[in-house]
Amino acid sequence: MTDTLVQDFGKDPIAKRETDHYQKEYIEGFVDKWDDLIDWDARAESEGRFFIDILKARDKHKVLDVAAGTGFHSIQLLKAGFDVTSADGSAEMLAKAFENGRRRDLVLNTVHTDWRWLNKDVHGKFDAIICLGNSFTHLFDEQDRRRTLAEFYAALKWDGILIMDQRNYDAILDGDFSTKHKYYYCGDQVVAEPEHVDDGLARFRYAFPDGAEYHLNMFPIRKAYMRQLMSDVGFQKIKTYGDFQETYQENDPDFFIHVAEKLEDER
Ligand code: SAM
Repeated sequence: MTDTLVQDFGKDPIAKRETDHYQKEYIEGFVDKWDDLIDWDARAESEGRFFIDILKARDKHKVLDVAAGTGFHSIQLLKAGFDVTSADGSAEMLAKAFENGRRRDLVLNTVHTDWRWLNKDVHGKFDAIICLGNSFTHLFDEQDRRRTLAEFYAALKWDGILIMDQRNYDAILDGDFSTKHKYYYCGDQVVAEPEHVDDGLARFRYAFPDGAEYHLNMFPIRKAYMRQLMSDVGFQKIKTYGDFQETYQENDPDFFIHVAEKLEDER
């Protein structure tokens, strides 16, 4: 078991650029604080019915939440009547998600798996896969990104969809990160801001009201590159929303949300 109280980025934190490191970043203290301070009701209100409407409009029912985290989206979708499987590579996150479900009288169907070998652990095919909360950004190697998308593609039925979100790294890399972005989806109690940014790393600092600080090291994915990767593994009709809107100025949104389809007829 890893140390659950201290994040360990080694002597030179900005040198830590490894896909596997996410396991050491989501430690118990960070995860507990996150859930204490990020108001699920406020988050649900800000997202509205966006994901539910997309899934329902396409008649998708069986959903795999590949980045379950502490369970926010799995629980929203279960409450809305979807058949949900909740997967994550962090056992601590899954335990927290299960507990969060139990407190709401829901039993989460959890699978502990890393995306790079997802189909070894997750069985069956899904109508939809969701990968939300800026999770894909934890993959530092190009090979890992391609392999993960291929695993997602394989786990979908024909006509299935992938819904994936990401921070607007174009704005961050191009130096357009303003203070209004600091509080996005973290609520107004947690400050989330980039401490170091270069083409291969976005290191974010999360500061809590009691003075506690945690970090996440992430790979800054440009929007066009992400769309290209999805297209390369076979996804089609990739539609990208900005902060849940169809139209937007490129640098305005905090998050992009891609909806990509696995289509039978055009292959
Ligand atoms: N979706 C949740 C949300 O929006 O609140 C959690 C997002 S959290 C930022 C990212 C999650 O992705 C973490 O729970 C982490 O363990 C998981 N993760 C990161 N890389 C992974 C990988 N290679 N395989 C499986 N899970 C991974």
